[in-house]
This record gives sequence, C-alpha cells and structure tokens, in this order.
Amino acid sequence: MCRHLAYLGPPVTLASLVLEPTHSLYEQSWAPDDMRGGGTVNADGFGLGWYTDDTPIRYRRNAPIWTDQNLVELAGSIRSGAVLAAVRNGTVGMPYGEAAVAPFKAGNWLFSHNGRIPGWPDSTLKLAERLPVADLLQLEAPVDSAFLWALIRHQLNEGRQPADVVAEVVEEVDSLAPGSRLNVLATDGEQLIATTWTHSLWVRQTSDSITVSSEPFGADGWTEVPDHSLLAATATTLRITPMEGQL
Ligand code: GLN
Repeated sequence: MCRHLAYLGPPVTLASLVLEPTHSLYEQSWAPDDMRGGGTVNADGFGLGWYTDDTPIRYRRNAPIWTDQNLVELAGSIRSGAVLAAVRNGTVGMPYGEAAVAPFKAGNWLFSHNGRIPGWPDSTLKLAERLPVADLLQLEAPVDSAFLWALIRHQLNEGRQPADVVAEVVEEVDSLAPGSRLNVLATDGEQLIATTWTHSLWVRQTSDSITVSSEPFGADGWTEVPDHSLLAATATTLRITPMEGQL
C-alpha cells in the first residue's frame, strides 16, 4: 500500500521532509518497513503538495520517485510550513497515471489515501448515489481513493467539521465494504486530519510542529497512532481519539 506523510510547522524545504532524512518517504518507496501485506514497493507514482499561501500547489508524476531527475533541485528549493506527500503502490485493478496519484486536491484541501476499498466501485454504489452527478463526472481518476476524496469533499463543502466528516465517511465506507483499508490524510494547510484503519501511522510532535507518516523517519520522537483512530492536529495541537465501534 502507499506511504504518505504530512507536516505542519515552521517552513522547511520539501527535501528535508521527503528526501534527506534516514528512511525518508523517498527510501520508503523502494524499501518500506511495514506494508502489512499490501504490496512490496511504492513505484506507481508520487506526489508532493505544499502551501505558500491559502492555495496548495502540487507536483505529481506517474513514475517511481527515484527516477525523477528534477526532484532533488526542486524539493531543495521549495520551503513550506504545510506539506502533504505520498508515494503510490496502485491497488490491483486500479488505473495507472498521474491523475490517480495523491495528493488529490480541491479548493484549499489536499488529500491522500493509503489503502483500498474491496469490491469498489460496486460495493459503495449506495454512497455514490448520494453524490451530485457533477462530482462523479469530475472524479480526478477512476480509482477508489479519488472516490473517497469526492465523498469527503462533498461534505466539507457543506461546511461540516472536517474531523467529523472524515470519521463518518471512513466508517460508512467500511460498513458497506468490510475489510476496507482506510488510512487517510487531509489538510487545508492549517489543520491536519488523519485516520488509521488497518495501516500504520506514526506522529511526531515538537513545540511548534506536527509530522505524521506511515513510517517513522529522520529524528527520534515518534509515537505510533493506534489502529482505528482519528487524529486532528494543527502545528501546535494534537488530538487522537478512538473511532466508532472501537471504543
Ligand atoms: N487504492 C489506492 C490506489 O490504488 C491506494 C493504494 C495504496 O494505498 N497502495 O491508488
């Protein structure tokens, strides 16, 4: 399954988050430690998303991250205080291509999904029926992760609390498609929402930053987030709560 990370804090270079640390996301693309049976390498593309103001910017490629000749210079020259990045191992049967690679984006939000929805799309038709036709036609790619994002995005647009929306959608999807693996990350550059739903996630908090990552990298100080948790954070706050049915 994919690996992803998000960071909120003082501006840092993208390279210092994604490329330079020991066991960085870059290394996790070919040598991940904890895939829990969901594949072996993350070579089906990668994406970086970051904020310099309210609107996120993305750089996505549908090639293994280690083949990108421009990335070192690019990532070394961009500084941001809010970053979301992912490397993809496409689920069997899902399409290949840049549009299927996280981060997905809408307005000022970025989104990533580590996992799979068994039986998608048939298993989740009931949820699809609730979406406006335009949202379905505008899916970034015909892939479970983009659909999950469309469900969440639709409710965010209605002004609901992001953490509530993410928890509710994850629980609904799993109830229709049991055995779903739904580790998601979403940020608007100020707040960060994440779930653990059968995949790994770690968090590292300092006095002025939060980093979450599928696998720990770089400096010490990581704590594993328990499975079936909802994490809501800003650069200076962190709340981790058990999700429904897991209390
Ligand atoms: N199911 C998603 C995809 O195909 C995410 C895959 C993953 O986490 N490996 O892209």
